[in-house]
Amino acid sequence: MASEGHARLQVGIIGCGIAGLSAAIALSRAGHDVEVYERSTFSNETGAAIILGPNATRVLTRWGFDAEKAGGLDFCQMRRIKADTLELDSEQKFSNIKEKYGDRMLLLHRADLHTGIMSIVEALPEPKPKIHLGSAVKDMEPEQGSIILENGSTVSKDLVIVADGSHSRLIPRITGSEAPVIRLPMSMYRFLQPISDIMDRPEAAQFYKDQQPGFSTFYKAAVGKPGHLLNTYPCRRGFHPAVKAICEGATDVKVYNQMYRNPIETFVKRRAVLVGDAAHLMLPTHGQGASSAIEDAMALEVLLKGVSSDQVVDRLQLFNELRLPRVRAVQTFSNKMMGPPDKMIQEVKQYFSGPIPAAGSKTFGPEFVDFFLSYDVKKAAEQLLKV
Ligand SMILES: Cc1cc2nc3c(=O)[nH]c(=O)nc-3n(C[C@H](O)[C@H](O)[C@H](O)COP(=O)(O)OP(=O)(O)OC[C@H]3O[C@@H](n4cnc5c(N)ncnc54)[C@H](O)[C@@H]3O)c2cc1C
Repeated sequence: MASEGHARLQVGIIGCGIAGLSAAIALSRAGHDVEVYERSTFSNETGAAIILGPNATRVLTRWGFDAEKAGGLDFCQMRRIKADTLELDSEQKFSNIKEKYGDRMLLLHRADLHTGIMSIVEALPEPKPKIHLGSAVKDMEPEQGSIILENGSTVSKDLVIVADGSHSRLIPRITGSEAPVIRLPMSMYRFLQPISDIMDRPEAAQFYKDQQPGFSTFYKAAVGKPGHLLNTYPCRRGFHPAVKAICEGATDVKVYNQMYRNPIETFVKRRAVLVGDAAHLMLPTHGQGASSAIEDAMALEVLLKGVSSDQVVDRLQLFNELRLPRVRAVQTFSNKMMGPPDKMIQEVKQYFSGPIPAAGSKTFGPEFVDFFLSYDVKKAAEQLLKV
């Protein structure tokens, strides 16, 4: 049972992906006792390379994230190459990201990012968050802050953070209605390949020799027509050849269905809050899914720092006020990439009052880069508390 007036909140987090783990760090840093319930045992961590912009890396830097240890590479460029003629179609350099936005834009393997965030958890002062692996949650109740585990036991918390990912079954507990996943008639195949193998093949090596880390995208598509796109980017620093030898010959290619949800009406109900993909599943168009989850966590850290149980409901309302418009804009820009940019910009203007790309801006142009990367969630949350 939640204890009113209790200075140290008892926090339960459902899911230990990037969103749940980031929330665990945030709430622990905010001075609270955290327990995380995760159904998996993480015996087989999956994922491929993802990109984190300064809107997320500035949060991780504040928490002491070791980008080098996690094998992070600076994202330096984006090239589009015509897949049939190999003609270079466009090239964009990102050499001054840190100077311009205050932190790095990183390419990381998702599992390495997860491990790196876990290292932050391990370095937290006692009492550290307790992580219960192999503990599936069956249900939750936002009024009392109850979490019902698959094993039949119930725990009661002052605050419940729902971070159960893209296939969340708990969204209706917060919003009161189902939030269906929308699947595009489009799939994405993701695989990792040792860069040495690529460099051994001159035909492939020509695209990567003497190039800085970034996207090289080969495409054969026209706007509004079916087509193919091959996006390649590096992650992970070099391994010792002996370690590489263990990985060589991997045949495990994963296929991801492209899916998203439309923005939901609320992230909070009483003592419960949705974060990460459960709150805002979006297409990976602008690489903002994990970054938004990290932003959620920092917002919670600022808004819940040192609060007592009787303040939780009001502070979660502030979280909603802060996160709904921003996340809705990020989701719309990510999900509606196929439509005309001006229509998408008009739609965002209806609910987002901050600066956004002007009509006529290109989907991947500097105005969009600015919109995503310049956002400082800590500053925005602190500002909201002052009002
Ligand atoms: C192809 C692709 C490319 C992407 N590229 C980028 C990128 O470049 N940049 C970026 O920022 N983002 C990117 N993303 C998005 C990013 O990977 C996700 O937004 C992020 O990993 C979501 O984290 P999460 O913690 O919300 O969800 P998840 O990682 O799915 O974690 C949810 C956790 O909850 C657990 N769980 C679920 N149900 C229960 C239950 N009932 N009880 C207990 N535990 C439960 C699950 O086991 C899981 O561990 C990409 C996504 C895809 C698919």
